Amino acid sequence: MEKLTLSVIKADVGSIGGHLRPSHAMLERVRNRAAACKGSLLIDAYVGSTGDDIALLMTHRHGRGNSDVHAFAWNAFVEATSIAREQGLYGAGQDLLKDAFSGNVRGLGPAVAELEIEERPAEPFLFFAADKTDPGAFNLPLYLAFADPMNTPGLMLSPELSRGFRFVIMDVAHTGQDRVIELQAPAQLHEIAALLRDPERYVVESVISVATGEQAVAACTTRLHNIAGKYTGKDDPVMLVRVQKNFPATGEVLAPYALAPLVGGGMRGSHHMPLMPVPLECGVSYFDGPPIVSCAAFCVHDGRLTEPQDVFAHPFWNRIRDRVTDKAVDLRRQGFFGAAMLPMAEPEYTGITTILDRLQPSFTLRPGPASH
Ligand SMILES: [Mg+2]
Repeated sequence: MEKLTLSVIKADVGSIGGHLRPSHAMLERVRNRAAACKGSLLIDAYVGSTGDDIALLMTHRHGRGNSDVHAFAWNAFVEATSIAREQGLYGAGQDLLKDAFSGNVRGLGPAVAELEIEERPAEPFLFFAADKTDPGAFNLPLYLAFADPMNTPGLMLSPELSRGFRFVIMDVAHTGQDRVIELQAPAQLHEIAALLRDPERYVVESVISVATGEQAVAACTTRLHNIAGKYTGKDDPVMLVRVQKNFPATGEVLAPYALAPLVGGGMRGSHHMPLMPVPLECGVSYFDGPPIVSCAAFCVHDGRLTEPQDVFAHPFWNRIRDRVTDKAVDLRRQGFFGAAMLPMAEPEYTGITTILDRLQPSFTLRPGPASH
């Protein structure tokens, strides 16, 4: 059987009321375009939104990085952009950083995650989309799900899982060619942790089963400022995770989101805020955040998708959301101070950099020995 490719391509091409959510007209246009391609270019497709982003999940047999599939998604986003302009929406076309499509949307702005798989008889997988944060937001949940038996008992209980997983980690601060490293859990657990502790720089790109060589995870690693040369918006990652059998169970992959770790994002992309698990098609509200993550669970057979199961809509997550709200408000109490904001090396700080440059000549050297 020819391999099946799952492709997710996601972009923010305009939203209502600031950076809150795309309009129904935009989503409908993308859904209509996807429906027209089913049975020809695509086997199946699902169109969803998380915060201000529209994501296209497509199944097909053309492989990763296929120019026709990517061109289809690009053109759908161009059409959604024109609707956003007609409606006077904010940030119309903001993630389409180049004027023309050139073979592959990687490097043009939209986020991409693609898995090429031998379809299992039962093929459950999870499609994550996050808004108001960056790709490193998935570092901790992936570490816990694929490398920590405190989170994932399957690492002890399943002979296949106990052989561990290979993590492919990208240095996203590096511009030009991709700079990646492959490390194996559990043997290189400390090395993996040493990289993943810095989510602004090191990002999990994929995770592969040691027992079978099958790929479990494909996550996007796009950092928009590396493409645009300046801050144009947060990178709002997407991710596909295959679950069950030789991979962690669905619940083992979802459990880490109950921790609501602090991630980069929120207002003007410049803050640390807790990541809130939300239902599908949830908008954004408080302080351009908190950063949100949605998850649609599917099964796929012969390339055909089931309907999505909205996993974070379950009542369990209501309490978690309440806790995230408290955590977010607590952190906001310290305003601009210290750990509330991202490190100065991040490219969001154009305004502050200007102020600091302007102040430098006003510093004076005091005569006498140093007091520190
Ligand atoms: Mg967004």
